[in-house]
Amino acid sequence: MSEERSLNFIEQIVEEDIANGVNDGRVLTRFPPEPNGYLHIGHAKSIVLNFGLAQKYNGKTNLRFDDTNPVTEDTEYVDSIKEDIRWLGFEWEKELYASDYFEQLYAFAVKMIEKGLAYVEDASADEIAAAKGTPTVPGTPTPARSRSVAENLDLFERMRKGEFKDGEKTLRAKADLASPNMHMRDPLMYRIKHAHHHRTGDKWCIYPMYDFAHGQSDSIEHITHSICTLEFIPHRPLYDWFIKELDIFPSRQYEFARLNLTYTVMSKRKLKQLVEEGHVNGWDDPRMPTISGLRRRGYTPASIRQLCERVGVQKRDNMIELGLLEFCIREELNRTANRVMAVLDPVKLVITNYPEGQVEEMAADNNPEDENAGSRTLPFSNTLYIEREDFMEAPPKKFFRLGPGLMVRLKNAYIIKGESFEKDADGNITTIYATYLPESKSGGDQSGLTVKGTIHWVSAAHAATAEVRIYDRLFTVENPQAEEADFKTLINPDSLHIIKQAYVEPGLLKATPGERFQFLRKGYFVVDKDSTSEKVVFNRTVTLKDAWAKESAKGK
Ligand code: ATP
Ligand code: MG
Repeated sequence: MSEERSLNFIEQIVEEDIANGVNDGRVLTRFPPEPNGYLHIGHAKSIVLNFGLAQKYNGKTNLRFDDTNPVTEDTEYVDSIKEDIRWLGFEWEKELYASDYFEQLYAFAVKMIEKGLAYVEDASADEIAAAKGTPTVPGTPTPARSRSVAENLDLFERMRKGEFKDGEKTLRAKADLASPNMHMRDPLMYRIKHAHHHRTGDKWCIYPMYDFAHGQSDSIEHITHSICTLEFIPHRPLYDWFIKELDIFPSRQYEFARLNLTYTVMSKRKLKQLVEEGHVNGWDDPRMPTISGLRRRGYTPASIRQLCERVGVQKRDNMIELGLLEFCIREELNRTANRVMAVLDPVKLVITNYPEGQVEEMAADNNPEDENAGSRTLPFSNTLYIEREDFMEAPPKKFFRLGPGLMVRLKNAYIIKGESFEKDADGNITTIYATYLPESKSGGDQSGLTVKGTIHWVSAAHAATAEVRIYDRLFTVENPQAEEADFKTLINPDSLHIIKQAYVEPGLLKATPGERFQFLRKGYFVVDKDSTSEKVVFNRTVTLKDAWAKESAKGK
């Protein structure tokens, strides 16, 4: 898909750099996840941008785990992140860890101290905050700010050796306490954390802060374009200052707008709460905006990349409609998914004039949108299941499906005419009786009749049983992150509806997890990993038509 589009602002920067011979025209980007949760679709945006730029400009992309916080990180997350990036269709140049640079970062910090540009602080976090001033009032120096280089070197080394407790000391940059940019007011460079790290174990008890790890890691790797989200704009002067004072490779930071999606939350911290408090069934719950959740929901890598392409690269934060993501997958599956028949709310239909015990194999095309998709056969008999909603006891005028005296075509089979029905004690229809027209067989119809409606069906004796999981949006409001209320009070209580006993055509019993289908007239579905040899489990990926666009138009 090479749709013509103009360059986004980051591509413009890269092209200018290449034209000016910056870094000899070399392009090296990085994707820097913190391994403290599973990736979500916002990360996909960053992945597509970083890897996409490298692909376009003959460059490379490093995968760097930003693992500088020992408390929240885990190798389970590292593994899932790698799986998700590969699934999206990208391969990194090098797999790197910020924790591999701890020794180098320590040396950089020592250099800053030696230059008189860093000092060991005794004040607590609260005291530091109180002395920082406000954007209009300059900060005031703490007594530690005037420590000698020698004393700072000694104290910093003792911090490393574990002589102090958590929070007792920090290392601060000696930058500019009067700067209008609060990030420049002697930001923290190191803090003490006596905690086990998933890779370095107990070797370290001091850990660098984001601002003294990220830019330095970029520089160590000779990253040419370090792309992050807008909230890091005020960090950029600090990013540049450290690089300049350390006199190391001049990586440059560029910022773009985060991807936000309606009806969900997009922060690992919040997604983790949903998982840990049981609001969803794991990180890969098909309602989650995680890559693994979207995969299980039936999304394809191409549909997610397509969303990122369509959204583009912006300089201002915005909200993307969930409907756009659904549009992307619907468009793809319409081209690629085989059509099958599945009856989700079954009612029995008996064709009284069709010979009892006779079975015919009806030919059915797999996908009218794809002439190479081939065909299959479906067993037909005198007892079928059809959708309950396709029959009405007393149909109104424009009901073009089945009712007493009404004719409808059974897809890939015959025209039938409704005759009568039976009900149970509660008034629910239990069996519908109909007659068929033998000369109306699909593919060789001699009946001369035209009927307006076509409905799907499965043969009762041959159908496979399926469980079908129907998902709705996870939150009741468009932007749960913007609401005052705790986001968890905004969870949609009806986001999952399970149909325990649906009937699907027999061939689907052989379908394997991840296979995607269009259930005729019902939507797109994917086989879930919970399937067994007796029962296939399907997740609904998306409806056939955009029901939401209509609904939201009504609401406005
Ligand atoms: P979260 O708040 O969800 O934990 P994060 O930014 O802390 O997100 P990281 O693991 O630090 O998560 O992010 C890795 C990369 O992905 C960063 O470069 C970050 O800017 C980018 N990223 C994270 N969320 C989004 C988003 N919603 N849209 C675009 N890029 C994102
Ligand atoms: Mg982060």
